[in-house]
Amino acid sequence: MSEVIYGINGSVISVRHASSLAMREMVLVGEKKLLGEVIRMDAEQTMIQVYESTTGLRPGETVEGTGRPLTALLGPGILGSIYDGIQRPLNTLARAQGAFMGEGQAAAALDEAKKWQVTMKIQNGDTVQGGQIFAVCPETSQIEHRSMVPPLLAGTVSQVVPDGSYTVSDVLAVLTDRNGQNHPLRLAQTWPVRNPRPVQAREPISMPLVTGQRVIDTMFPIAKGGSSALPGGFGAGKTMLQHQIAKWCDADIILYVGCGERGNEMTQALEEFQDLTDPRTGRPLLERTVLIANTSNMPVAAREASIYTGVTIAEYYRDMGYHVALMADSTSRWAEALREISGRLEEMPAEEGYPAYLPSRIAQFYERAGYVDTLSGQKGSVTLIGAVSPQGGDFSEPVTSNTKRFVRCFWALDKSLAYARHYPAMNWTDSYSEYLDDLSRWYGEHVAHDFLDLRQEMQQILHEEASLMEVVKLIGSDVLPEDQKLTLEIARVIRVGFLQQNAFHKEDTSVPLEKQYKMLKTIDYLNSACRRLLKQHIPVSLMTKTGIFEQIISIKYDVPNSNLALLDTYPAKIDAALATIR
Ligand code: ADP
Ligand code: MG
Repeated sequence: MSEVIYGINGSVISVRHASSLAMREMVLVGEKKLLGEVIRMDAEQTMIQVYESTTGLRPGETVEGTGRPLTALLGPGILGSIYDGIQRPLNTLARAQGAFMGEGQAAAALDEAKKWQVTMKIQNGDTVQGGQIFAVCPETSQIEHRSMVPPLLAGTVSQVVPDGSYTVSDVLAVLTDRNGQNHPLRLAQTWPVRNPRPVQAREPISMPLVTGQRVIDTMFPIAKGGSSALPGGFGAGKTMLQHQIAKWCDADIILYVGCGERGNEMTQALEEFQDLTDPRTGRPLLERTVLIANTSNMPVAAREASIYTGVTIAEYYRDMGYHVALMADSTSRWAEALREISGRLEEMPAEEGYPAYLPSRIAQFYERAGYVDTLSGQKGSVTLIGAVSPQGGDFSEPVTSNTKRFVRCFWALDKSLAYARHYPAMNWTDSYSEYLDDLSRWYGEHVAHDFLDLRQEMQQILHEEASLMEVVKLIGSDVLPEDQKLTLEIARVIRVGFLQQNAFHKEDTSVPLEKQYKMLKTIDYLNSACRRLLKQHIPVSLMTKTGIFEQIISIKYDVPNSNLALLDTYPAKIDAALATIR
């Protein structure tokens, strides 16, 4: 049975008395069978958001229900793919047409012809549970794809195929549930994107997501399974930092959701990722990456869906026992899509025209981060990092302030730092990480027992600098006592030599924790050595004249990541330089 379009308002269409449709059902709209979703139903009217351009659509055309909600298709072949917000592959469609995707195109999200080398993990007669791994195949040279019994199914299996090569739609076994109903098990399965995939239990946070970026790993770390907001005005460096994290972080799998940003940025990301090799495996980075692109010229409703598609794919790989990191750039564009659709539904607007449910939608998204025991009895995690682009860098606006409520890490990018070419332009007084306590044990065991103490000390020096600068602004630095002058000099070493990190420099673009620690240790050694000289009434100006401060600042370039032992020679260098004063 089909319904008839009554009204069209941009991406939202209405149908009257649509008795055959259900809330959140996916529908096919018009002659072109555009994909849509039922987003509101009352006695009179049913409202549908359409994921494709509604240009040319007319009242009177039909709307057909599909009987299922908006789902993602999950199976081998996702890695390395580029999808739009509703998981249509952009690469294969572009290849087929040599241009932009047409409307109503239903290219399969997974390659149906490709054969995978499958090893079965079940036998005839086995009782299986939801989430249990029933088959594996090498998806890429690094990632084993672990096909799981759909989470809500359980029963006894029969007709198990022998190991061999199969496509995503071949039936590999049949599961008979308690009611005697049969369900085919295939490599591909679906999941409704708006529902979190179930897990056995949530585990406490205990491990950092190591990014190779000093201001993150040392100063404001994010945990595996944690969430972080990355707010900043236009040009503050959000996209750049998200790319850096995507390239260098130690997650097994990366989901990069380009949401409403400029199309050329996504193309650029794609090209960069294609050229790069994964530092840990030497394989192309794209093999562990999934890109979801919904650029500013694509329909607004698909942008609204894109982060759910992304997080669903992330959860699917988490459930196999992998650590997944998802970057969304930018969640502000997603919130604007929400606002536009809400406006077309004529809902009562709340703050700045956003719907009243904006905070709950943001919360629901970030709640899908976590470190979990999976249904298959493994450990996996989803880490969520959302860029926020407030107009004019005003962090009190609704999207930034509500995101802040639901994440535990806040990386505030600062336009004035970016303007001064201090990159990453992360403000060290406004940013914070609430994961430090959860991670202190890991850092103690895996980096050094005094790592966080040193971090604390550097933070302290930066805070002292901030308050001293208030004085300096008024009366200049000449009047400061010598020990405070030294604080300013050491703070400069921390800012320029440690916090600033050059994404375009071969050695500096990503830095292992061991180097981060030894850099801190060296700065601390310099600080203590200078403080001793202060006691002998040697002025700070003589200490800086030795050039040792500049040498410490350029450690990041001078000490290659492959020869960290070189860092052990620095205490002697500091001693020698300072000894020339006497
Ligand atoms: P946003 O996404 O916040 O608008 P971008 O990430 O596009 O900002 O950054 C704008 C520009 O700032 C980049 O093109 C680059 O030139 C510079 N930039 C940002 N971060 C860095 C960095 N870590 N190292 C060097 N340059 C950077
Ligand atoms: Mg950007």
